[in-house]
Amino acid sequence: CYNFCAGPAALPVPVLETARDDMLEWHGKGMSLMEMSHRSAEFIGVAERAEATLRELLGISDDYAVLFLQGGASTQFAAVPLNLLAEGASADYVNTGQWSKKAIAEARRFGRINVVASSEDTRFSTIPPRDTWSTDPNAAYLHYTPNETIGGVEFHWIPETGAPLVADMSSTILSRPLDVSRFGMIYAGAQKNIGPAGLTLVIVRRDLLGHSQPHCPTMLDWKTAAENDSMYNTPPTFAVYLAGLVFDWLKELGGLPAMAEINRRKAAKLYAAIDGSTFYANPVEVPSRSLMNVPFTLADSSLDKPFLEEAEARGLLNLKGHRSVGGMRASIYNAVPEEAVDALIAFMQDFEQRKG
Ligand code: PLP
Repeated sequence: CYNFCAGPAALPVPVLETARDDMLEWHGKGMSLMEMSHRSAEFIGVAERAEATLRELLGISDDYAVLFLQGGASTQFAAVPLNLLAEGASADYVNTGQWSKKAIAEARRFGRINVVASSEDTRFSTIPPRDTWSTDPNAAYLHYTPNETIGGVEFHWIPETGAPLVADMSSTILSRPLDVSRFGMIYAGAQKNIGPAGLTLVIVRRDLLGHSQPHCPTMLDWKTAAENDSMYNTPPTFAVYLAGLVFDWLKELGGLPAMAEINRRKAAKLYAAIDGSTFYANPVEVPSRSLMNVPFTLADSSLDKPFLEEAEARGLLNLKGHRSVGGMRASIYNAVPEEAVDALIAFMQDFEQRKG
């Protein structure tokens, strides 16, 4: 089967095989790693190695803390203003879709938020050009969502800003090389390109630590995690362990340049198949199409149900679009192999021939 789920998403098969073998007993210790203290030398070794490999993959310098947290990206929607937005200050947000909107709504609970650009008037099928943004030079930070998982809209450029740049990279991180030094803070729920649900990655420039709002909960203050090696409380040990295996897998594959090449090929094929047909359509402007999430519609929506049923019978799973937009969505994250995209395209063409 091939799994096109938007999240929790497919994991690399070799990672799952290693995890299966490790699960019952950890290197002759008489118990599983999941049963060991997070303070044990074994688990600390696993966590340190995961962080080191991630730093290597993304080229993260020592100026940044790497935090393994919980609560999902949604918790960071609150943690970002709680850590960065001082009393009386304001922050800029760019609205490019459903996840931007959620981040904006949550941040408004904690301070003054200005939406400096929005593509809502194009039904989120575009990215507002940088020269149209009304940014505030005194903003505490600028927040954007580089890849909108639901709309399938992606920035293929990093915004220039004076204020620290904050990015929700949940559905694009590790899909290609990234210049982390351009960002003040990056966060991502793990359940797409990092590992299983339950882990949230935060990468934050160290000079941004220690400025949280006075009532910021201890657990949401990034400084707490940074000072305690992400072990102020019990960390999500299984998720950290598995993410470490995913990072090893990426490194063995040739790192992010190699992954990016594969991802570009997968997306190009799928968009070409959609654009080459009058039966399938993708609503997103070409320069802003996502490499990770490819929404598409069928010319006749009464065929959606048979399309999904037939796809599933062929082992092409989780192609239903998000409930807010309908249609289909193929999420083609790192662990979805190129053969999966080939199989999907072959099925789409066959379905069109028979029903189109
Ligand atoms: N941001 C983006 C871009 C997402 O795709 C998601 C989940 O799909 C979230 C935030 C929410 O993440 P979580 O479920 O980890 O809170």
